[in-house]
Amino acid sequence: MWSATILTLYPEMFPGPLGTSLSGDALARGIWSLEARNIRDHGLGRHRAVDDTPAGGGPGMVIRADVLASALDAALAPDDARPRLLMSPRGRPLTQARVRQLSAGPGVIIVCGRFEGVDERVIEGRGLEEVSIGDYVLSGGEIASLVTLDACVRLLPGVMGKEASGSEESFENGLLEYPHYTRPRDWEGRGIPDILLSGDHAKIALWRKEQSQRLTRERRPDLLA
Ligand code: SAM
Repeated sequence: MWSATILTLYPEMFPGPLGTSLSGDALARGIWSLEARNIRDHGLGRHRAVDDTPAGGGPGMVIRADVLASALDAALAPDDARPRLLMSPRGRPLTQARVRQLSAGPGVIIVCGRFEGVDERVIEGRGLEEVSIGDYVLSGGEIASLVTLDACVRLLPGVMGKEASGSEESFENGLLEYPHYTRPRDWEGRGIPDILLSGDHAKIALWRKEQSQRLTRERRPDLLA
């Protein structure tokens, strides 16, 4: 079973939206498992402190290396081969290719940052891979980890129907997906491109490829580079 362990200060945020729809159904069917562990259980003193002021000064607080390492060590099985991700705006941007790799593996351990982030030494000391979900700053890593999990779980065998294998989707072949249409045939004076109604599958495939290339050129030339 593909297993996800999340280290967070807000375990109540899980499974959250992943408890519904495709991912929730797959969770109930035992295709994947999810454990959200509270970093605060490893906090220090009466107040279970997890953070402290940044060395060198400056605003905000930083999650302590000793506290996070103890939470992480307690979460790991002795032979745990799962990649250890740290959600971070500084990380490598998450791509569909990385999502495919993750979903083909045994699962993931995901650390959700809060405040200014986590002490650099625990990133090095525990081999955390920093992963970003985009060039903007969230208030915590929880939503980023839900995004990462959603992208992985939908690719697990048995989660999506056969007809939606995902092989033609955006990013799978380095391009954005072509436009979709369905009934009604005319809607507010707008029709469906004739070619899609022609029944000529070779021409349809060619049209879709051209549309994919056009959209990618217009919107995401970086994908073509
Ligand atoms: N001080 C950090 C910086 O400037 O890079 C931002 C910290 S942010 C307020 C708190 C936490 O939210 C981060 O430690 C990280 O876990 C998460 N986070 C914020 N933006 C993210 C993003 N784009 N991708 C992944 N995680 C993000």
